[in-house]
Amino acid sequence: MIDLIEQIAPLADQFNRPITYLRISVTDRCNLRCVYCMPEAGLPWIATAEILSFEEIEAIVRAAASIGVRSIRLTGGEPLVRRQLPRLVARIASIPGIEDIALSTNALLLADQADALRAAGLRRVNISLDTLREDRFFAIARRPGLNRVLAGIDAAVAAGLGPIKLNCVVMRGQNDDELAEFAELTRRRPIYVRFIEVMPVLENAALQRNAYISASEILDRIREHGMLEPVPGPGGNGPARYFAFPGAPGAVGVISPLSHDYCETCNRVRLSADGRLRLCLFGDNEIDLRGPLREGAALDDLAGIFRGAMYVKPERHHLDLGKPASAMRAFSEIGG
Ligand code: SAM
Ligand code: SF4
Repeated sequence: MIDLIEQIAPLADQFNRPITYLRISVTDRCNLRCVYCMPEAGLPWIATAEILSFEEIEAIVRAAASIGVRSIRLTGGEPLVRRQLPRLVARIASIPGIEDIALSTNALLLADQADALRAAGLRRVNISLDTLREDRFFAIARRPGLNRVLAGIDAAVAAGLGPIKLNCVVMRGQNDDELAEFAELTRRRPIYVRFIEVMPVLENAALQRNAYISASEILDRIREHGMLEPVPGPGGNGPARYFAFPGAPGAVGVISPLSHDYCETCNRVRLSADGRLRLCLFGDNEIDLRGPLREGAALDDLAGIFRGAMYVKPERHHLDLGKPASAMRAFSEIGG
């Protein structure tokens, strides 16, 4: 049935990009306050009644899967602060057509949940880690927790949630002297360390302008510690380019949100915790799904909204260095 529908009309945007990947924010809340992401006092959180229930998320994924979406990533805020997340994973895993479910997390709560998530059908995790030093962890995340994150990484490996991708946002003067140390991890373990250029957003206005380090500078600085060869990535839907030290079991990757080099092959849309379908990394292109859903929209109606949304998916994002994005926080698009 799914194959038949797909043969007739797989979801694609007006630039002929097939849309196969849906990122779902399950909460806007977080147990950290990373300096580049959230103000210390937090944000005006979305009211609980406005957050999509698991049933509602499942209905939206069913509709998306019926027209060709195959991969799901759960993100946030911090997705593991949403209670009973394994139950949502199990619901999504049971949907015909869904082939891959992944999670982006800060891993603070992962050690306790890795096995249950795996059993429910989660396949992979991306873990954010910007420093290997506890004092810096506190300075960047504004909360303690490095040991819990490291325990979370071990638990993810033990649960078979690999290949593990570590996401590290690089900031000059704050953690850029740890680039080599992070890269060295890939010589010993089959992990993928992905360095992300810090993006200017309203929430990090206080972050020094010169904190930005380009992906090419990041790679040059790692090359001082050994030759890097371009290698294929570990699979998945990410926007990273990968390089490895010869013979290393892992690889380093770079993600450049500020360049537009991955817009061309963009295959994704994003669902906010309160049910808005966001069509691009930054920008105001979004369509409400929660309203129609709560008014009784059926699977075909939701699929129709997805199709209509393709006409407002822009060709590229318009984020530029030195110009903080005016749009709401959409960056969870990146690190996954
Ligand atoms: N809380 C989870 C986590 O930290 O992995 C998932 C959501 S978080 C918003 C997703 C990713 O976006 C993380 O890897 C984080 O480092 C990255 N991120 C957040 N703000 C960013 C910014 N201003 N520039 C670059 N990356 C950012
Ligand atoms: Fe929380 Fe992730 Fe943002 Fe850090 S990057 S504050 S962990 S949502």
